[in-house]
Amino acid sequence: MRILIVEDDPNLNRQLEDALLAAGYVVDRAFDGEEGHFLGDTEPYDAVVLDVGLPKMDGISVLERWRREGRAMPVLLLTARDRWSDKVAGIDAGADDYVAKPFHMEEVLARLRALIRRAAGHASSEIHCGPLRLDTKASKASIDGASLKLTSHEYRLLAYLMHHQGQIVSRSELIEHMYDQDFDRDSNTIEVFVGRLRRKIGNDLIETVRGLGYRMQHDG
Ligand code: CA
Repeated sequence: MRILIVEDDPNLNRQLEDALLAAGYVVDRAFDGEEGHFLGDTEPYDAVVLDVGLPKMDGISVLERWRREGRAMPVLLLTARDRWSDKVAGIDAGADDYVAKPFHMEEVLARLRALIRRAAGHASSEIHCGPLRLDTKASKASIDGASLKLTSHEYRLLAYLMHHQGQIVSRSELIEHMYDQDFDRDSNTIEVFVGRLRRKIGNDLIETVRGLGYRMQHDG
């Protein structure tokens, strides 16, 4: 799951990055509204953390432009405390949720998890697929109750596939959601990771759809 952070305060931006990386996400960062708007417009994100008060273009304008341009990714707004007008403007502009500053990092993480799950149509923080269980809160997976030892790349791959059960996911889509913008992308690495994942979870759960990509079995 790939997240964009748009926050001009360098310390806060870094703290958000650290927390999101620790939670198993891939992270891109922007420090002003123009850069943030550009990234959100050109790269696929599973969610965005967007500050309202930004240089060059404010967060509400960034969000309005994305929505006008048809970008539908979940957006969590960071608003100044007690600025109820920001919250109203943000929701009108198409924000999915907001957190007022100063916030507890745990709250940002919990709200992001909920937004990403809802966007994928899952109501609970645990996602199941046959014997597999993904605990999005702890960033852990288990099979038949036994916890899986996964590398961060394997976890990202499994999490993306489990959020999109029953759908064909192409290699390029996986790459876009598993790596940040600076990564040297090579689609052959996806095959390697799928191979490793299958050795840990069995061959049946991830189907190869020839010429198109992969499909995780759908658990209903
Ligand atoms: Ca700010």
